[in-house]
Amino acid sequence: MKVAKFGGSSVASAEMLKKVANIIKADETRKFIVVSAPGKRFEDDHKVTDLFIQLLKQFKDGVDYQDTLNKVVNRFRMITEELLLPNDIPNDLKNKIEKLFSMKKSDEQLVDELKSFGEDTLARILSDYLSELGIQSTYRNPKEAGIIVSDDYGNAVILDEAYEQIHQLRNERGVIVIPGFFGYTKNGQLRTFPRGGSDITGSIIAAGVEADLYENFTDVSSVYCVNPKLVPQPKEITMLTYKEMRELSYSGFSVFHDEALIPAFKKKIPVVVKNTNQPDLPGTMIKAEKEDFSKPVVGIASDEGFSSIYVRKYLMNRELGFGLRLLKILVDENISFEHAPSGIDDMSVIVRSHQLTKEKEQKVLKRIQSELNVDTISIQHNLAMIMLVGEGMSQRINVAAKATKAIAEATTNIEMINQGSSEVSMMFGIESEKLQQTVQSLYREFFE
Ligand code: ASP
Repeated sequence: MKVAKFGGSSVASAEMLKKVANIIKADETRKFIVVSAPGKRFEDDHKVTDLFIQLLKQFKDGVDYQDTLNKVVNRFRMITEELLLPNDIPNDLKNKIEKLFSMKKSDEQLVDELKSFGEDTLARILSDYLSELGIQSTYRNPKEAGIIVSDDYGNAVILDEAYEQIHQLRNERGVIVIPGFFGYTKNGQLRTFPRGGSDITGSIIAAGVEADLYENFTDVSSVYCVNPKLVPQPKEITMLTYKEMRELSYSGFSVFHDEALIPAFKKKIPVVVKNTNQPDLPGTMIKAEKEDFSKPVVGIASDEGFSSIYVRKYLMNRELGFGLRLLKILVDENISFEHAPSGIDDMSVIVRSHQLTKEKEQKVLKRIQSELNVDTISIQHNLAMIMLVGEGMSQRINVAAKATKAIAEATTNIEMINQGSSEVSMMFGIESEKLQQTVQSLYREFFE
């Protein structure tokens, strides 16, 4: 029994939905179908979810929103017309939007409800289309499916108690089409997951029904071993472990939402990334464990936009609670940290720069200086992190030597090195402007 999730580009047009239907038809074990809202059909196109966000903004600002409203509804109308389906579903959508705007709801509630219409409408259309093609198919709203989530607007988390009800879906007949991206609180209030959250729904359903496989259909044939924007036509990865995927998606691998796969991982359900345009290609398989450790490095992830707060204090290592107090200052200012490499007398805390406004930065530095009485404090911006990932690393010597050699060949200065104790990844902090040439050099070293 499989769960197949189709991303935004896979459901962007009627033409794509025909491909989706063929994929579902081709394999009877594809029982649970989770869909995104229509994404971009071409470079400058709009994602339907973005149009909904724009629509709400116009409504709130009191400006004329009819154009945007028509644009959204027409996206769906074009699909139903081309699939020779009646226009009831898009017409209904228009009424639902107008009705929602006439209700007294908080802004947060409004935006979550409006955003959910994209996946919801598409799931209804796909289910009707499958029925037209003679496939027994049912649309299931996340409330009926049992997707019970936390109260956080736009950032919901699945509750453990949801899984029992989701498990019951196994007993249903035919194909079940479920919209991704949202669930309901215990009180029946709609909440969305973070952006890109249809992957989360797919993963939750796969875990709940204990699927044999979670297929994630997108517009790439596999996961590349490095960002193709940095290295043209990089090699494809055929097999990854969960741990490797988690490390890769943390920094710069946008195939998956960072935490999306956790529900599937917890139940050890294998995940495969496949291309809707070329469904017969094997794609990239992601499993709990692997047998082949011949390649120490399977991928190179990278991301920009980091800042490093550096502190130095003589005899820091002997001072009880130093790190704790330093991090507590960040907690007070609502700043989360990513890494904290330390020496005997010094420590750096790496944070995502977007969390620091000028004032916040000054305040944090001042507080650290005065409350911890440090000898030196400084902050560096425009840092990039490069992460070499591979479970095979722990069984090999020489990986760090090869990496630093490649970085030196790119004439890049290493600002920071960090290897987690699990030895699944090795991380290098460098200046952002050297990112591309450094990644290219590492790629040559490990993949060519
Ligand atoms: N439609 C939502 C978004 O654009 C969720 C998704 O596509 O996974 O973020």
